Amino acid sequence: MWMEGWGDLPGHLVVISGPSGSGKSTLVRRILESNDIHATLSVSATTRAPRPGEEHGKNYFFVGHDEFLGMRDRGELFEFAEFAGNCYGTPIRPVIETLRKGGCVILEIEVQGALQVREHAPSALYIFIDVPRFWELEKRLRNRGTEDDAAIHRRLVRARWERDHAHCYDTILINDDLDQTATRLINLLVQHGCGGKASDA
Ligand code: ADP
Ligand code: 5GP
Repeated sequence: MWMEGWGDLPGHLVVISGPSGSGKSTLVRRILESNDIHATLSVSATTRAPRPGEEHGKNYFFVGHDEFLGMRDRGELFEFAEFAGNCYGTPIRPVIETLRKGGCVILEIEVQGALQVREHAPSALYIFIDVPRFWELEKRLRNRGTEDDAAIHRRLVRARWERDHAHCYDTILINDDLDQTATRLINLLVQHGCGGKASDA
């Protein structure tokens, strides 16, 4: 119901997608650490198991399958999707609360979810993070060491489909040099109205 009126909310929404291993999480960390940006990262719900070091409520809300379906059925998720054998979704309430206060919210989500968000929020900023060459994805995923072979394979299959949808986004950033990509991303967010931490102090 809030979705019809979402455009009246004073805040700014940014959606970041890209194939697994392209560097989204690394870049989002850079954004959140930047003194030029004042933004909140939406914490998603997922049925995936936590990776070593991931914390419930910080990286994700790690929930069981039934709990996830309950959230979905009660209308608590802004968008949701199945990805490589697990469910992921964005809790709607914190997003609205931040946008209502005029803040900037970042959603780091896969393509199906981003397309759902775009139906309700066409004026959000949509950014697709890609790699210069497909094989870099496998290399980065293997270096990251968080998924087994089968899971890497599922992610690479999905990556081809996701890259075919890159044209649905406002901007495609090729994450070759990490520092350069982070700078370009931060500039895009500042232009979208998410600047401000340094001047807040
Ligand atoms: P995603 O969140 O898109 O799945 P990550 O941010 O976890 O991807 O990055 C995947 C791996 O690639 C990580 O080990 C990360 O340190 C590394 N990485 C990120 N950006 C680059 C880059 N520009 N060049 C080389 N490696 C990178
Ligand atoms: P990972 O398991 O690597 O953390 O995430 C797998 C994929 O799910 C990534 O593309 C990530 O952006 C996406 N994802 C994370 N949270 C959400 C969410 O709430 N909704 C959707 N649609 N995708 C998500």
